Amino acid sequence: MYAKFQKYLQDELKAIEDAGLYKHERTICSPQGAEITLADGSKALNFCANNYLGLADNPRLIAAAKKAMDERGFGMSSVRFICGKQDLHEQLEKAISEYFHTEDTILYAACFDANGGVFEPLFTKDDAIISDALNHASIIDGVRLCKAVRYRYANADMEDLERCLKEAQAQRFRIICTDGVFSMDGNVAPMDKICDLAEKYDALVMVDESHSAGVVGPTGRGVAEQFNLYGRIDIHTGTLGKSFGGAVGGFTTGRKEIIDMLRQRSRPYLFSNSLPPMLCAAGIELFKILGEGNELHDRQQENVSYFRDKMVAAGFDIHPTESAIVAVMLYDPILAGKFATAMAKENIFVTSFTYPVVPKGKDRIRVQLSAAHTREHLDKAIAAFIKVGKELEVIS
Ligand SMILES: *Cc1c(COP(=O)(O)O)cnc(C)c1O
Repeated sequence: MYAKFQKYLQDELKAIEDAGLYKHERTICSPQGAEITLADGSKALNFCANNYLGLADNPRLIAAAKKAMDERGFGMSSVRFICGKQDLHEQLEKAISEYFHTEDTILYAACFDANGGVFEPLFTKDDAIISDALNHASIIDGVRLCKAVRYRYANADMEDLERCLKEAQAQRFRIICTDGVFSMDGNVAPMDKICDLAEKYDALVMVDESHSAGVVGPTGRGVAEQFNLYGRIDIHTGTLGKSFGGAVGGFTTGRKEIIDMLRQRSRPYLFSNSLPPMLCAAGIELFKILGEGNELHDRQQENVSYFRDKMVAAGFDIHPTESAIVAVMLYDPILAGKFATAMAKENIFVTSFTYPVVPKGKDRIRVQLSAAHTREHLDKAIAAFIKVGKELEVIS
């Protein structure tokens, strides 16, 4: 049987390669950070990690993880409802609730699981899920697993959301779900308007803070802080894999009864292993670091402004950003690919995004700024952008 299937896979893989869509992976032989070392010993500056606060190689997180391994072991070898949890899981859930000003928190192995397991336990075919068209794949999959009636509105389009809310009056309960920051353009969801519409049309609100946590709001505490919406957002989901240390782990935080119900019924929680103690301990230390001051967030914000202003001054077309994501618009898939390759030759890692990840004709290079970048790193990246931009006649 495999011979036939193998031929099919080989043909499909070749088609992916021929279309220029095959995802080749780099091999990094250093910790993740602003400067990385590759397998061949060469060094590069990384501008495509979600390492927004530069904590992926933080010594305090590493020390906390090591200590927890010594004191609490390597793994849990179980799911929570069978063997229970450690004190570290409780402390991390509490730290997340305090950070987001929410009532309770449930941990998952990843935010992909948090989103995959948030809808099905709460809503039935009698209810409505109203989803932004540009929501993350994990929200889309989570919605697919739930029998609720689905509505989709154009990205951050409040008129279109209102249309959906009117139609969804036919259902028992309604929930609006959105990314906090959309990962392609770096725009922030208009959460104040979303919450106003939710009130007007009697809907719940869920936001995925994966790219907004640690970035958006005066101290980086996400969209509720940015728009002063404490108490008006019912569910936040998020990841420990971006701003919050960059390892793995996800969470859902929000209203007490919602979290209670997820503990009873959410399948990725019930049927998947608990987070290992080292990740919980590092997470607890992380929120301690974030509670000590705003220095990392301030530096990240300064880096975004510095980079964006210099790039605009150089003549690049920069998508207006409200986050740590800066989209350098190129409007052509082949050009975007060439640009990223040429940047890699300058030892600057950035990624090109082309159709179908972004709409046709909206091809771009996505840059992600971090608190770990120094002024010198930024200047090197900007110089490389200008050099390549001139070579490829993107700027004059
Ligand atoms: C990265 C991301 C996720 C997935 O997070 P993991 O913890 O890596 O599974 C989910 N939602 C959004 C919006 C993301 O950007």
